[in-house]
Amino acid sequence: MNARPTISPSVETNNDALRLELQRELTEPETLIAELADRAAPHIDPVAWSTTGTAKAVAEQIRSALGRLDAGTYGRCVSCGDPIPAARLEAVPHAAACVKC
Ligand SMILES: [Zn+2]
Repeated sequence: MNARPTISPSVETNNDALRLELQRELTEPETLIAELADRAAPHIDPVAWSTTGTAKAVAEQIRSALGRLDAGTYGRCVSCGDPIPAARLEAVPHAAACVKC
């Protein structure tokens, strides 16, 4: 028996909407990375370099969330395995960990 609590039905039934939301969310950092690509180097434009670094990290977190959606583990904390509260996922759809982790 799996002792873990089940993921809330709203997360399971709205996978398509979630996927679209995450893909939409992913376009923002990807656009930023593309726009800054020609000057995002520490010796050319440190701000663009830093911004690109942050955007790449966010894009990676969103891709990871899409991967968890495919794997059926979306909505669970990657650290402790507990369900991530719906309010947190609404605020940060690509959240990988629960509030306490
Ligand atoms: Zn956790």
